[in-house]
This record gives sequence, structure tokens and C-alpha cells, in this order.
Amino acid sequence: MLSILGRRNDMTLPPLMNYVDGRWTNEGVSERYVQRHPATNEVTAELPETDAETVGVAVQAARRAFDQGPWSRMKARDRKQLFRRIVDVIERHADELSWLQTLDNGMPIAYSLNGRVSARNAVDIFDHYGGWIDKINGETYPDFHSNMQFMSFREPVGVVGAIIPWNAPIMMFAMKVAPALAAGCTVVLKPSELAGLCALRMTQLIEEVDLPPGVLNVVMGGGGTGRAIVEDTRVDKIAFTGSNAVGAYILSRSGQNMKRTTMELGGKSAAIVFPDCDVEAAGTHVMGLSSTFLSGQVCSTTSRALVHRSVYDRFLDAAARQVKTIRRGDPFSMDTTSAALISEKQTRRVLEYVDSGRADGARLVFGGTRSGGELSAGNWVEPALFADVNNRTRIAQEEIFGPVLSAIPFDTEEDAIALANDSGFGLAGTVYTKDISRAFKVARAVRTGIMGINGYGVVPSSPVGGFKGSGLGREGGWPGIEAYTEIKTVMINLDA
Ligand code: NAD
Repeated sequence: MLSILGRRNDMTLPPLMNYVDGRWTNEGVSERYVQRHPATNEVTAELPETDAETVGVAVQAARRAFDQGPWSRMKARDRKQLFRRIVDVIERHADELSWLQTLDNGMPIAYSLNGRVSARNAVDIFDHYGGWIDKINGETYPDFHSNMQFMSFREPVGVVGAIIPWNAPIMMFAMKVAPALAAGCTVVLKPSELAGLCALRMTQLIEEVDLPPGVLNVVMGGGGTGRAIVEDTRVDKIAFTGSNAVGAYILSRSGQNMKRTTMELGGKSAAIVFPDCDVEAAGTHVMGLSSTFLSGQVCSTTSRALVHRSVYDRFLDAAARQVKTIRRGDPFSMDTTSAALISEKQTRRVLEYVDSGRADGARLVFGGTRSGGELSAGNWVEPALFADVNNRTRIAQEEIFGPVLSAIPFDTEEDAIALANDSGFGLAGTVYTKDISRAFKVARAVRTGIMGINGYGVVPSSPVGGFKGSGLGREGGWPGIEAYTEIKTVMINLDA
């Protein structure tokens, strides 16, 4: 039977504690929760379940560090120097962090070391945001009728509560902490209770650069700990990445003290496949997004394949061939290409969606069952392809977050766009065609925050975020800095 215990025992884990006001602490922690490895359900670590009172101590530390400085008022050159040191320390430990990520959430090591969710990508994110520090500028405005000079400043938004999901713990940490700190904010971060080790190790590494105490705080725990951050009126902004249900709760509660929010939520993105593309490559790519890497547990996965009827069968055949190439098993083996589902609960949820797809009349081409043999102790589900799916049914409308692809045939470009837009989500999507005009026309017509043409990617400098139910605001690049600043207008009477 597969086991990760040998690997876990060979690794040095970060302190399994909270990090508050510049020190590692278990103060105020009376309960711990168990984090299990998705590939085997073996215990990975026991971590603090932080209650509201202890969250309050971390918020107070962040508040003091913001209100009294020096971080919020630090000269650009000094803050940049600290960022350079953060970049350097993460870079030196990049491979080790990536191995830890595979222990944390079961991501196959080959992806964890090299993909866009690797620690090297976190290095790029900190490097990118370090570059913005001396470019956070205001503007000047022409006077209308008096003799006054009007100008604007961008000021840090304040104390940020950062709440992140489990699926890319290194990248998510970097996407929240780097722009917040670059803008001069202080942070209380809560990683997911399903994968908390990378955030602790990143914090331990950043500790080496001697940020002022209280600038970065990390509290461990589940939904209750997250709620305590959201309910604390000393927090100025919540930067959240996660599910729509939790996002809706956070948005409603943030009104109490008019907290700023950034919401990076779920998706039900469409891959639109036209007959003039390389259909074999498109089938391989789209099925691969559901069956390899995190097995469809990625917000931007194109979990609906809208395929022109003339190449529909070829697409389904290519998808069937792709799925035969995946290699599952030991996540620490460089050969492994697919991950288990994050939890037993998520496994049951995915299997229920498979049942609902069948009940709603879709044709299950393959997969959709729990895996047996040496995978039976973990949360493994055979990648599933549904054909002839009605776009109004649950498997086409709801985010499954697992290895389930729904294929839907279309006849015209207009049909394809209408189907893609017939969704409560609007996160991502891809169009596969060699016709450049069509590619742009479709990419512009689909109401999503991100669109790929014959491929898909993310870089630290480009904005990411969703239309419609997929979120509010943007991360990445300059919009990522804007999201952590307030604009203040100042005017000076030149006649005084
Ligand atoms: P989740 O919503 O269950 O949990 C996310 C975080 O919220 C965790 O830290 C969790 O402990 C915390 N939380 C839970 N209840 C809370 C509450 N009441 N108040 C405050 N915090 C609370 O999501 P998940 O399962 O970790 O991640 C999967 C989801 O994240 C998917 O929907 C996926 O699409 C989304 N996601 C979006 C993006 C994006 O960029 N748009 C990226 C990755 C993941």
C-alpha cells in the first residue's frame, strides 16, 4: 500500500505553531487539528486551531505595526532592500519548499518543482512586487477655478486579513503577501486547514530578513479561525481566495466596517474547440487539465469542453487516449502526473456529481469511480468524461473541483459563445482555433477575466480575477498593488 510516512519523516517540518508579532507561539491555543495527506490519508501534521481571542492578538500586532510603523512609512529603498532579501531566501530554498508542497497537498513533485505553482514562481512574484515599491505613484490634477494644486497619493489600505485555499499554498501565500507588503500593509494570514505547512515554512524563511514585528502574522485553523479574522473590525481588508460559499459569507460580513475585499473564487470555464484547430492536441490538453496535475482541482480548469460537432468524436477519442497516459501513485515520484483529491469529503462530493450527471442524462464515457488497489486508502477518483451534457444541468453549471470533464457539442460560433456565457461563473477559458480573427472575436465575447488562445498561462505581471460569480477585484501586476492601496486627494491653497 502507498505510504508517504517515510518521506514525511525525512523532512524537517516548520514550527507547527502560529507566528504572531515576530515570534513563534502556541499561546492561547488549546486545540489542535489533524492534517492528512490526500494520497493516503496518513497524518501529515497536527496544527493549532486558533480561536477568536488569539486571532485578536495577531490582529492587534498587525494593527500596531501598521499604525505605529515603521513598515507603513518605510522609505521605498529600505522596503525594496528587504524584498530583495525575501526573494533571495525563497530562491535558495525553492526546491525544498516544493518538496514540502507535495507533502502539504499531494501535488505531484514534478509539477511542484517546475510548474507555475512552484516555489520558483513565488520567487518571481516577490521579485515582481518588489519592483513596484518605488513606483506606487499618485497624480496631479489641473485646477478649475481657484488657485489650488490638487494631487493624489496612494496609501496602504491597512491591516489585511489574507485567507487562502489549499491547492497552491506557496503561490497563494506569495500572491497575497507580496503585494500587501509591497504596498505597505501589514498582514494576518490564515492558510487552509487542509494544507498549512508551506505557509509556515515561507514565514520561517521570511523571518530571516527581520521584518519589523507584527508586519506578517500567520494563524492556523479552519473556518472558525477565518471567521474570527473576518469579524474583527480592526482588519481593513480581506484578501480571499477560495470557494463561492465562503466568499459570499465574507462579502456579507465585511460590510460591518466597510472592509475592502478581493475575492478570487471558483470557475466553470469553457474550452471552445473549433474544427480548424489541432483537435488531437486540444483533446489532450483539455482532458489533461482535468486528469493530471491536481486532477481538476484548479480554479481556472476548463471543466466544460464545447466542441464543434464536426470534430466532436475525434475530440472524445483524443481525451480517451490522454487519460490512458496518466500515472498516479507516489506523489514524490518524478513519474507521477496526477494528484489525489484533497479530502475524503471532496471525494464524496465528486462522486455525487458523477451520480447527478448520470441522473441528468449525460453519457459517462469513462471514469468516475473510486480507485482501488494501492490507491484505495487515499482520495483517488478515476478521471471522468461526460459526453452530450446539457449545459443547464448541475455538472455543467456547478464547480465540481475534481477530475470530471463535461463535453458539449455546438454548431456555430454564436452557439459556442452563448454556451460559454451561460454560466454563473466567469473566471477563465480557452479557444482553440487557427483563425486569428475568430480567436480574438471569441476571446473578447466570452465574459471571463482570463482567456487563452490555443493555450493558457499566468505570469506575475498579468492580472487575474473573475467576472460574475468568480470574484471581485484583480490580483497580479499593477492591479494587485492598487487592491492594497487607498487613494487620498490632497490640495494646497497656493494663495495662503
Ligand atoms: P474554501 O472556501 O473551502 O476555503 C478557503 C479558505 O477559507 C480556507 O483557508 C478555509 O479555512 C477558509 N474558510 C472556510 N470557511 C470560512 C469562513 N466562514 N470564514 C473565513 N474563512 C473561511 O476553498 P478551498 O476548498 O480551500 O479551495 C477551493 C476553492 O478555491 C475552489 O472554489 C477554487 O475555485 C477556489 N480557488 C480560486 C482561485 C482563483 O484565483 N480564483 C484560485 C484557487 C482556488
